[in-house]
Amino acid sequence: MESIINYFETIPSSHRSLILIGGITFFWLLEYGVPLFKFDYKKFKHAWPNIFFTLTTIVINFGLAAILFFTSEWVVNHNFGIVQWLELPLWATALVGVAILDLVGAYTAHWVEHRTKFLWMFHLIHHTDNHVDTTTANRHHPGESVIRFLFTCVAVFIVGAPVWMIMLYQSLSVVLSQFNHANIKMPKWVDNAISWVIVSPDMHKVHHHNLLPYTDTNYGNIFSIWDRLFGTFAKMRNEDIVYGVDSYPDINDNSNIGKLLKLPFQGYRPPTNAPGFGHKKQ
Ligand SMILES: [Zn+2]
Repeated sequence: MESIINYFETIPSSHRSLILIGGITFFWLLEYGVPLFKFDYKKFKHAWPNIFFTLTTIVINFGLAAILFFTSEWVVNHNFGIVQWLELPLWATALVGVAILDLVGAYTAHWVEHRTKFLWMFHLIHHTDNHVDTTTANRHHPGESVIRFLFTCVAVFIVGAPVWMIMLYQSLSVVLSQFNHANIKMPKWVDNAISWVIVSPDMHKVHHHNLLPYTDTNYGNIFSIWDRLFGTFAKMRNEDIVYGVDSYPDINDNSNIGKLLKLPFQGYRPPTNAPGFGHKKQ
């Protein structure tokens, strides 16, 4: 446990990049071998806008990193935050810390993005992908990257997270997001079993269905417990899933970087099957 903490305490940027690139490469290859859907798409052409948005996410997180480190240094120096107050054994500190970072920094951020029209217009870009695969994981508009960064800072503040915990959490988050977006098929019983602990591929795909109320379910990122606990867990048969957002059906627009960058600043289009601002609980 000590060695894991020491590693993440001083993890070089090159290793963080390697985790991201290694994860995408691993799941990308797996998608050739055991695809969930046999998409009629050009895999590299589809990946390009998603890789572009992954790069903008990296640049934004790198540019703002000092704020995250400052928050972490402050909570540790002032013994502030849940894990600082609890003083649990190291393994339990890691587990509780990562779980609450996941709750506040990912689940809550995601839930709020679906409930607030202004934030939804940025998060929308993630949902407009009509062919969800491992490259979709970090398809975030730069505005959403900033929004998520701010939630991560709040999470670090509440948790009292030291730097090693943030690095551990972010590494897990990157790989598990690539895993649950990957266009891969696992035996149903395996998917079901792991979905009791972490967000499984089949579980997250429901969130990418193009119609409400399914879009407003399964918000989880690492742990599935938050959806089960807060009543946002849903199941759907894979064969019934249609990726995208019903009111944004144009596949060409949905893969055009320029149009996607402008999308949050254009008019809101209500869902086809619900009146008014539909990204509320049905
Ligand atoms: Zn979403």
